[in-house]
Amino acid sequence: MERSSGTDPGHVFAMIRQGRCTTRAEIQAATGLSRITVGQRVDALLAAGLIRESGRAASTGGRRPLQLEMVTDSGVIVAMALNTRHAMVGLLDLGMNLLCSEDIPADVSRPPAETLDDLREASRRVLAKAGWPEAGVVGIGVSVPGPVDPRTGRLNEPPIMTGWHDYDIAGRLQTWLPVPVTVENDANAMAVGEMRSAYPDAPALVFLKVSTGIGAGIALNGQVWPGYDGGAGDIGHMRVDGGSDGRVCSCGATGCLAATASGGAIAQQLREKGYSDVRSARDVAELVRGGDPEAVALIAAAGERIGEVMAAVVCIVNPQTVVIGGDLASPALLSAIISSMVPRSMPRATRNLRIELSSLGEEAGLEGITSLVVDDVYSVDRVNQAVSR
Ligand SMILES: [Zn+2]
Repeated sequence: MERSSGTDPGHVFAMIRQGRCTTRAEIQAATGLSRITVGQRVDALLAAGLIRESGRAASTGGRRPLQLEMVTDSGVIVAMALNTRHAMVGLLDLGMNLLCSEDIPADVSRPPAETLDDLREASRRVLAKAGWPEAGVVGIGVSVPGPVDPRTGRLNEPPIMTGWHDYDIAGRLQTWLPVPVTVENDANAMAVGEMRSAYPDAPALVFLKVSTGIGAGIALNGQVWPGYDGGAGDIGHMRVDGGSDGRVCSCGATGCLAATASGGAIAQQLREKGYSDVRSARDVAELVRGGDPEAVALIAAAGERIGEVMAAVVCIVNPQTVVIGGDLASPALLSAIISSMVPRSMPRATRNLRIELSSLGEEAGLEGITSLVVDDVYSVDRVNQAVSR
């Protein structure tokens, strides 16, 4: 979220949206604008339907001031969280409340257009279920399990969705609905979703996603840190000590963390042990929940390997919070990662570190991508344009 301190309507709106100011007097104090100018800004935002008066605030002496809040029910956002083998499509209001969602099978090795068409059809169904017309959609967000170039919004040499490199996801979806489309890496979206809804006071948070693949997202001061080329946190393809026992990774290399410790790799190891119907990270998670000793042992070994890499991550980023999510997130994985990571890290980097399982689960991705869409749709420039019309 932008926290710059301009005084135009777009900045005043941002203060109200983020809850930093809820009355005209607070806006006046925060901006240094005159009472009359603040009144004009607020009137313009009210007339544009962006904010509303929501009752009277507690009195500080004298008449109680009218409270201002963002209008969150004037439109909806379609959020699509694409995973390697399934996808969640959700409909959220502008206040990030999930109205309706659907989980559908997906396969990122298929051509992008086919997968996006399936996501569009699922979006139509959730819109119908929630009773919203397509015209009510103000933006679309898509999270993807691969690095997204922040300059183009396109996947940049994704290791496990090779057919998607440089594909114009936004363009394809805009042939359906002509609204702004935000595309972001899934772990990055989850990092920002967790930071904004569960850890608003964390200045630095790392989200570790362990599903069919492995990735990390870094959020700093409420913003995604994507890296210069979109590759920050793409830890699944870091080479680990001892390698991957010669196993070839989905990216084509050997020795990657994901080739030995990802849900996809564990599923393969289980198939080699005779578990012929274990296909996905979800299948592995189900075995772990049921206490299957082979699956539990493989999770412990995976956690140890992931912990080695996370020791490097926490030493470089020194986050306040690490959140672990994805299909394989479990207390067993968490404790294996902690016991491997902590002894390998500088005491300073872990002394105050919170490391927890995601409380939002799959919703972290939907909430995260939605909040990035809201940032875009209600950017300072767009709001200034809206009120000047
Ligand atoms: Zn790899």
